[in-house]
Amino acid sequence: MTKVLEIHGIKKHFGGIRAVDGVSFDVNKGEILGLIGPNGCGKSTLFNAVLGQLEPTAGRVMLDGHDITGMRPARLSRLGVSRTFQLLQVFPEMSVRENLILAGQEHRGTMVSRLFGPRDAGLGEAADRMIAFFKMSHLAGEKAGGLSYGQQKLLDAAMAFMAGPRLVLLDEPAGGVNLTMLGALKERLRAINSELGATFVVIEHNMEFVMSLCQRVVVMAEGRVLAIGTPAEIRANPAVIDAYLGH
Ligand code: ADP
Ligand code: MG
Repeated sequence: MTKVLEIHGIKKHFGGIRAVDGVSFDVNKGEILGLIGPNGCGKSTLFNAVLGQLEPTAGRVMLDGHDITGMRPARLSRLGVSRTFQLLQVFPEMSVRENLILAGQEHRGTMVSRLFGPRDAGLGEAADRMIAFFKMSHLAGEKAGGLSYGQQKLLDAAMAFMAGPRLVLLDEPAGGVNLTMLGALKERLRAINSELGATFVVIEHNMEFVMSLCQRVVVMAEGRVLAIGTPAEIRANPAVIDAYLGH
């Protein structure tokens, strides 16, 4: 199996807080990997330390065998690596299509885009493809701020996929989303995975969502990896049940 991303012994300490304390795992090409664990166990900080938002205290990150430790997000975007944040990053005054084009520009490193607004530059086609994938054709011209929260979360995920998409890290894409939107999100992520061959890592609290979407799941607790396995293995793991699922 080809590894896209290798995380080796990543630590991120904030003074005395060991938010991430020696995390290692691989992400295989084409897989959907789940990342779960109690609130505050270091999931978002791990994403930040892996994708250049934060300098790791220790450890290395490899992308396709190349060391990308500490590489800035803008450079990673140009390599087709992107992410979403726990909080929405959409531009409320712009249309769905404009948001996608802007995201594409940002991934390409066009820093003026936020100042001058979206300019198509060939990204319109990519945006339309993403709109089709996310089944948002009827919303393409709507202002993002006028969409429901669930639709905005879908748009936010679609924006991350405008980078390539080689590898996308999703931080709670289903957080605060209702059951219908949850199903829609799952179905669209599956389509992107199978039809575009996109690899992604998903942080999510909804167990049913994670267990039905992901091929493998990494469980974190207190800044460390507690278990890695298939959903069936994770469900049956006594340490996981004790530390997390049992609560
Ligand atoms: P999760 O995403 O799993 O809920 P986080 O990665 O957000 O957890 O947080 C892990 C721990 O690191 C928490 O104790 C949090 O308070 C702490 N932490 C996160 N970011 C910072 C920061 N910038 N400064 C200090 N502590 C932080
Ligand atoms: Mg988090």
